[in-house]
Amino acid sequence: MKQIWFLTGSQDLYGPEALEEVAANSQRLAAQLDSAGLPAEVVWQPVLKSKEAIRAAMLAANADPDCVGVIAWMHTFSPAKMWIAGLEALQTPLLHLHTQANDVLPWATIDMDFMNLNQAAHGDREFAAIESRLGVARKTVSGSLNNPAVVQRIDTWVRAALAWDAGQHLNLVRFGDNMRNVAVTEGSKVEAEAVFGVSVNTWGVNDLVDAVSQVSDGEAESLAASYEDEYDVWPELRRGGERHDSLVYGAKQEIAMRAFLEDRNAHAFTTNFEDLGGLKQLPGLAVQRLTATGYGFGAEGDWKTAVLVRLAKVMGEGLPGGASLMEDYTYNLVPGAEKILGAHMLEVCPSLSAGRKSLEIHPLGIGDREDPVRLVFTADPGPGVVIGLADMGERFRLTMNAVEVVAPDEPLPKLPVARAVWEPAPDFYTSTECWLTSGAPHHTCMFTVPGAAELFTDYARIAKVELARIEAGTTAASFERELRWNAAYYRLAQRL
Ligand code: MN
Repeated sequence: MKQIWFLTGSQDLYGPEALEEVAANSQRLAAQLDSAGLPAEVVWQPVLKSKEAIRAAMLAANADPDCVGVIAWMHTFSPAKMWIAGLEALQTPLLHLHTQANDVLPWATIDMDFMNLNQAAHGDREFAAIESRLGVARKTVSGSLNNPAVVQRIDTWVRAALAWDAGQHLNLVRFGDNMRNVAVTEGSKVEAEAVFGVSVNTWGVNDLVDAVSQVSDGEAESLAASYEDEYDVWPELRRGGERHDSLVYGAKQEIAMRAFLEDRNAHAFTTNFEDLGGLKQLPGLAVQRLTATGYGFGAEGDWKTAVLVRLAKVMGEGLPGGASLMEDYTYNLVPGAEKILGAHMLEVCPSLSAGRKSLEIHPLGIGDREDPVRLVFTADPGPGVVIGLADMGERFRLTMNAVEVVAPDEPLPKLPVARAVWEPAPDFYTSTECWLTSGAPHHTCMFTVPGAAELFTDYARIAKVELARIEAGTTAASFERELRWNAAYYRLAQRL
C-alpha cells in the first residue's frame, strides 16, 4: 500500500515537555486518520523543528517510491522561513491540514500553557503565508478529523495523489495511429510526459494481430464460456450457435490485448477503426472488459482520453460508479426535456452500470471488417462528470461538466451499443455553449463515482493543468471571462 506522510511543524522554543505533547498529539491524529480507511497508509513522521530537518523530510518524501503525498500541520507556531528550503524542494503532492489536537475549547481551565500548545489557528496561517509566497500548489483542508466531511476531503486528495503517482509510471500503448484528419485527438506526447508523466507510444497493429493469432482455441473457448455466466449472451453467439466463432474471436482479442499490455506494463491503450491491419473485428467486447478491470482507453487513437480514463480508474478504485470513454453523440432538444445521448461505436465501459449486460453482435458500418461483438447496456442514473482534455497548442486544458445521468425517456430497442443519457449542469444551453467556448473535445471520460468533480479538481491542481468547470452557478459570461484570465495565467505560469 502506498503511503501518505503526516508532517507536524513546531520549533525548539517550547521546551521538551511541550514538544513531547506535540509528538503524542500528532501521532494520535495520524493514527486516527490512518484508521479512517483511506486508500493509502498514513505514516507519522517525527515533529519538524528546524530548517535542516524539514528539508531532509521533503527530500526523503520525494525519494521514497511508496510516498505519494505529504500532509502538513502546524500544531504550534513553526516559523515559516524554516520551511522555505523544504517547500522549494518538495516534488510530492501536498495537503495542508488546518486542524487542532482538541475539538473542545476548555473555557474553564484554559491557561497560557494550553494556548501555546494549541495554536494552529495562527501557526497554520504563518505556514500558509509562505506556501502562497512560494506559489506551492496544495489542497487546504480545515476542520477536525472527527468531522467525516473533513476526512472525506482528505480521502479525495489521497486518491488524486495516487492518480498523480500512477501517471508518473503510466505506459500507454497505441495500437496504430490517430484517425486521419481529426484535430482534437491529436496532441503532444512529449508535453504529456512532461505534464502528466505518462509515456505514450505506438505499436503497429499487426503486432496485435500476431498476438491474437497465437491464442489457442481452447483458451478462447474457455473465456467465451465464462461470458455466458456473466452476461445475457445472444443465442447465436453461444456454443453451438451459428455465430459462435465471432464470440471466440472476441475472446481471443481480449486474451491477446491483456497479455500485450501486461508484457509492457501498460495500463492504458487506444485503437483505431481505420487502422485494423489483419484484425477481423474492431475490438469492442475486449475493450469493454479490459476497461472494466481498470485499463484506460480512448478510441480512434485518442490517447488523451485514455489517460483520463486510467486516472479516473485509479481515483475511483473501490468506490461505487465507473469511468469510461464517452462521446457526445446526439441530443434531445425538446424544450424542458433537453438531454445528451452519449455512446461510442462499441467501447463504453461496463462500469457505468451495475446491471446485467447483453452480449450481442451487430454490423458496424465503418472499419470494413466483420461484425464485432459488444456489450449493450444503459448507464445507471446518478450524478457524475464528463471531462475532456484538449491540447491548446502551448499547453493542455481540462474541461469538466457536472452531469446527471438519467434514464432514457423511452426504451432504445434499435440502438446496438452501450449508452448513457444525461442532463448537463447548469442547464443544457449554458453547458453546451461553455463546452464549445472552451474548445473541449467530443471524446470525454464519464466518471460517476461519488465526489468525481473534486477528485479531478484535486488532480488538476497537483498537475498544474487548467481545469475549466461547468457546473451549478456557471454562466456563459463568467465562463468566457474565466477562460480569458486562465489563458493569461497559464501562459505566465508555465516554464519559460
Ligand atoms: Mn469517437
